[in-house]
Amino acid sequence: MLGQMMEMPLTIGSLIEHAERYHPKTEIISVETSGERTTSNWKEVGQHARMLASALGKLGIANGDRCATIAWNNRRHLESYFGISGGGMVCHTINPRLAPEQLAFVANDAQDKVLFFEQSFLPVIEKIHTLLETVQYFVVMGPRDDAAAQSIPGLLFYDDLLETGEADAPWPDVDERAASSLCYTSGTTGDPKGVLYSHRSTLLHTLVGNQPDGIALSAQDTVLPVVPMFHVNAWGVPYIAAANGCKLVLPGPNLDGESILALIDETETTMALGVPTIWMNLLTALEASESTLPSLKRTVVGGAPLPPSMIPKFAAYGVELLHAWGMTETSPVATINQFLQRHSALSDSEKTDLRTNQGRPLFGVDLRLLDENKQLLPHDGKTQGDLQVRGHWVVKRYFGKDSDALTDDGWFDTGDVSTIDEDGYMVIRDRSKDIIKSGGEWISTVELENIAIAHPHIVNAAAVAARHELWDERPIVVAVKAPNTSPVEADILAFYKGKIQSWQIPDAVIFVDTLPIGATGKVQKVELRKQFGEHLIEKGKNNA
Ligand code: ADP
Repeated sequence: MLGQMMEMPLTIGSLIEHAERYHPKTEIISVETSGERTTSNWKEVGQHARMLASALGKLGIANGDRCATIAWNNRRHLESYFGISGGGMVCHTINPRLAPEQLAFVANDAQDKVLFFEQSFLPVIEKIHTLLETVQYFVVMGPRDDAAAQSIPGLLFYDDLLETGEADAPWPDVDERAASSLCYTSGTTGDPKGVLYSHRSTLLHTLVGNQPDGIALSAQDTVLPVVPMFHVNAWGVPYIAAANGCKLVLPGPNLDGESILALIDETETTMALGVPTIWMNLLTALEASESTLPSLKRTVVGGAPLPPSMIPKFAAYGVELLHAWGMTETSPVATINQFLQRHSALSDSEKTDLRTNQGRPLFGVDLRLLDENKQLLPHDGKTQGDLQVRGHWVVKRYFGKDSDALTDDGWFDTGDVSTIDEDGYMVIRDRSKDIIKSGGEWISTVELENIAIAHPHIVNAAAVAARHELWDERPIVVAVKAPNTSPVEADILAFYKGKIQSWQIPDAVIFVDTLPIGATGKVQKVELRKQFGEHLIEKGKNNA
């Protein structure tokens, strides 16, 4: 016997419809690429999204067609998210920092029909537009600009295009299993691969990801997604904000510490989300400023390991850091670090220790660990293995591939090496491609980095393997000094003593002005290995 309840499809159109109807006046603050700050609201975003969907329909763009965006976090990008997906098309967010040939590769791979881009990218698009085999319409995300109009034949302008659509056009019926958006992995450890999300996977992530033990945003929050909208849909925040009527602050292109600090203080942001490098830069800016960060209560930190030393530094400003783990393939939030009831009895330092792990799975996500022979490992908090995941918002097959990306029994192999304890708290020990194998023993780069970053004269550090004749690989640390300090290698190496076993202590510390950071804010260890992989051999330090 079937249940006898209403069945409404879980669609992105229904999200924006809700925000427009029940949170019409809630503000959306947007920093435009020009630096101008504009204010709109959910009503206007919803109307514009419907106008865009109907305008695209009039251009002949059909259900399932891919419409790409190359844009920072701003109001038009938000409208495009809802307009494209709500209208039944697929919103393909492209990383603006891709090299022009990679950009063409990704747009051709996705077979994009429309390419929306900010005017600042016009010179690049002008150069490569003839390489974009499937794109029928190029749309500048701004008002009409007669000079720019000459650059690409038939160039359209977003604000003009909207005018051709209808503000009262209803959202079309869309199958909840239909594709809604397409995001390529950032390619930190390999070629980018497309992950095609569905309305259903997005809505389930929206509903479950925001429960009280998840991201926990409410209509009382002012939310700043520093995480880019081209990176796993800004961790789902635009959808969560629409479902809950949050006030949104979209930061535009300038994500340096000073700009983010000013934006948080001026908009009274209560919750912000981003990768650890964003928060490191914010801390440096904060320490050099008079601000006490009065409005900010919480941040979600993910995408790379949260350095434990950051937790008390933010706590001093009354900010709680919530550590979360996910991937493009898990769209993205899979685990988040929220406490259990019994943890309220812990001391502050025990709580800080607990906060450093990547947290417990949300309902709808399941984790397991396997050894190299594909045997299941215990969840005892000590045994380390390959992390596999399955769940309602986890990839099944990469876009355009003929076979599933799963194990025979239906799990996705994350490429991360982890431990899981009996409560489900997971620790990422490393990425399998980054972990260092010294004389047959594994050394976690995350652990080496956390220690270096805890040194008061180091602001950021990355540990990588350097080739070694005797041990195959030995760890070296590439570090950025704190302003106005002058640590030397011996100081940093001495700092490791007693914190880890002596054979795990790095063989060298190299100081650099900056670390290579990818478009999604992650340290590019591939680059560091290229640059410093032979350091020990060259320095004759390979016969220890
Ligand atoms: P890329 O693999 O190109 O970096 P993703 O953005 O999908 O693209 O990154 C997912 C990976 O980022 C995870 O597999 C994991 O290695 C890493 N990661 C994400 N969140 C965390 C975290 N909180 N701690 C440690 N590593 C993380």
